[in-house]
Amino acid sequence: MDDFNYQSGALNAEDVPLAKIADAVGTPFYCYSQATIERQFRIFADALTGLDATVCFAVKANSNLAVLRTLAKLGAGADVVSGGELTRALAAGMPADKIVFSGVGKTDAEIEQALVAGIRSINAESEPELAAINRVAKRLGKTAIVTLRINPDVDAHTHAKITTGLNENKFGIEWTAAHRVIADARDLGNVRIVGLAVHIGSQITEYEPFREAFIRVRDLVAMLRADGVAITHLDLGGGLGVPYDGEDIPPPAEYGQIVRETVGDLGCRLAFEPGRLIVGNAGVLVTRVIYVKDGATRRFAIVDAAMNDLLRPALYDAKHEIVPVSATNEAPELVDVVGPVCETGDTFATQLALAPVKAGDLLAIRTAGAYGSVMSSTYNSRDLVPEVLVRGADFAVVRKRIGLQTFLDHEQFPDWMDR
Ligand SMILES: *Cc1c(COP(=O)(O)O)cnc(C)c1O
Repeated sequence: MDDFNYQSGALNAEDVPLAKIADAVGTPFYCYSQATIERQFRIFADALTGLDATVCFAVKANSNLAVLRTLAKLGAGADVVSGGELTRALAAGMPADKIVFSGVGKTDAEIEQALVAGIRSINAESEPELAAINRVAKRLGKTAIVTLRINPDVDAHTHAKITTGLNENKFGIEWTAAHRVIADARDLGNVRIVGLAVHIGSQITEYEPFREAFIRVRDLVAMLRADGVAITHLDLGGGLGVPYDGEDIPPPAEYGQIVRETVGDLGCRLAFEPGRLIVGNAGVLVTRVIYVKDGATRRFAIVDAAMNDLLRPALYDAKHEIVPVSATNEAPELVDVVGPVCETGDTFATQLALAPVKAGDLLAIRTAGAYGSVMSSTYNSRDLVPEVLVRGADFAVVRKRIGLQTFLDHEQFPDWMDR
């Protein structure tokens, strides 16, 4: 499943002991396995064999340049949601014609950046956005290639904060309105709507909602074509889940089958935007125990990673598997694994059965490759921690620690205060 395994009792990333990396870069740090990234990409690409498919990795899941380049070399493009992510995707070597731009709040400057770069499509999410794209394209003397993101009003059965395909969510244009919006857009001289896009949510662990959504897309394509609108592109989004805590998730091949059965015969060029599936289990966050504290009712392992490094448990109540970096045969005991930040939400696990830990021990928080480092902050004036990529027996720091001094250098006193 991934490349974080024990070798003679030591947890390795591929062939590198995580303890060795900890000695070299300090803790906490993120560690990614290139082999896992590559394997996950191939599994997904293979699931789409026979389809005219471009895999546009969702950069917001992990935007590290080395991770992006790893994927670019396998033929991946990118799904970006900001001008910053577009800059990263291009800097990593992703070809512009494999980049799609999603998101509900693109600014004029971001639209201009996309048009100048000549990306594959801008996924428009509202009528005001279509007007903005048209205005910017006209100023630049260009025609914008656009797909219209529709909201299929399908329940993805995932966490409320990561479901996006219900009509109460802010994403896309209601699918019932898409027909009229596209008809109206015919008058926009500098926008060419070539297709539809859909993305119903994230960490989806049963695939039937995809089928429901893609059937809506299919119906809409039929209606539009009947009206003489040429639909040549479909962007089916991302959203496939990964196991965080032993969940049973169908293989991506089943997803591919659903795609074939629903839209496979429409003759459209397809784009996909997986993020989590590609990098989720390709990363761990390694942390060191600072103290073991016996509270009134339970034991706490206080570690040097915190919610600012990995926000998912605090934000989504996410449960990440936590394992010792040095395996022991001692009987597990229950412990809460918490960070040092002054928030009760700064908790990685409650009542976790873990072999006894002591100060100085290393723990690995698993499945932290997606929505981990990218969501980190400097809350409590903590550093942005290093990111390390492993390939075989080699490892390299792919983002250096960004320490407090960098931030202090950007702060200044107003001139009415004493210096
Ligand atoms: C977040 C997002 C994705 C990626 O979702 P995953 O669950 O990581 O696959 C893809 N497309 C859009 C539009 C998104 O917002």
